[in-house]
Amino acid sequence: MKKFAVFGNPIAHSLSPVIHNMFAVELNEAISYEKICAPVDNFESSISTFFNSENAKGCNVTVPFKENAFRMASELEKGAKLAKAVNTLVRNDDGSLSGFNTDGVGLVNDLLNATVSVEGARVLLLGAGGAARGVVHPLLDAGVSHISILNRSFDKADILAQEAEDSRVVAVTVNDSSNIADIDIVINSTSASLSGLVPAIPEGVFDNNAVAYDMLYAKEPTRFMSFAAKQGAKIQLDGLGMLVEQAAAAFKIWTGKQPDTAPVLQKLRIMLANENRP
Ligand code: NDP
Repeated sequence: MKKFAVFGNPIAHSLSPVIHNMFAVELNEAISYEKICAPVDNFESSISTFFNSENAKGCNVTVPFKENAFRMASELEKGAKLAKAVNTLVRNDDGSLSGFNTDGVGLVNDLLNATVSVEGARVLLLGAGGAARGVVHPLLDAGVSHISILNRSFDKADILAQEAEDSRVVAVTVNDSSNIADIDIVINSTSASLSGLVPAIPEGVFDNNAVAYDMLYAKEPTRFMSFAAKQGAKIQLDGLGMLVEQAAAAFKIWTGKQPDTAPVLQKLRIMLANENRP
């Protein structure tokens, strides 16, 4: 049986085992998939122990280890290189590890599933942390016309915009009216919702009938989604679909098989609604 896992700290609430086990049933793959809480100061040895098992084929990596995984991979796919973060590792036949970042493709596929027009869209990306890093290039590859990055610490937005090396990407402040006009999609990649907060958002940004996307997901609409709804956002989406889509992309890397994500997302929504999680 092929062995997979997700590494994080904390990891108890991860939905990844549920998602991957559903994919495996759907595609008739015999797998095991466990949650591993790696020590914050010893991720590398946890990974080595896991891959010592001959059946261990790959793993997912989540907060706070995506940069450690990036450093451990001897080969990196383009998305991971640009994001400087890895959420999917694969063990090659010679024992070396290849690193991928499927978060961005997960976001783009989730937007497309929701019939959001990504090609030609003007995007306002709130936040400049690891999640924002992972989505900039997949959004550019999907044909967006412009990305304005707005972050609480401007310097981080500026560095991310410069590293993108694409004239469509700029760092902005909350008052930069020219770059935040006519926005089609507002993506919240900040962790502000985790503390029940809404990040600073330029006034009138939803006036263009913009779509609001929060990478966070919860049982109820997040604070950002409720705020956007009040401001007139066309639709509000949370990040559960992104989670399922990034998992599907990882599953395809490991097995060569593309899962059907819609029934899995539907089951997770029901699970989440009945679960006692914040
Ligand atoms: P990081 O810690 O790397 O970055 C956090 C970002 O949020 C930084 O830009 C930080 O700004 C900003 N921020 C934090 N608190 C506030 C606040 N109160 N007001 C304004 N900005 C704030 O986290 P990640 O980028 O890894 O993750 C961000 C979010 O994305 C998390 O909620 C995570 O769960 C979610 N996520 C969802 C995924 C999915 O599949 N749905 C995948 C990956 C992430 P500053 O730079 O100034 O500190």
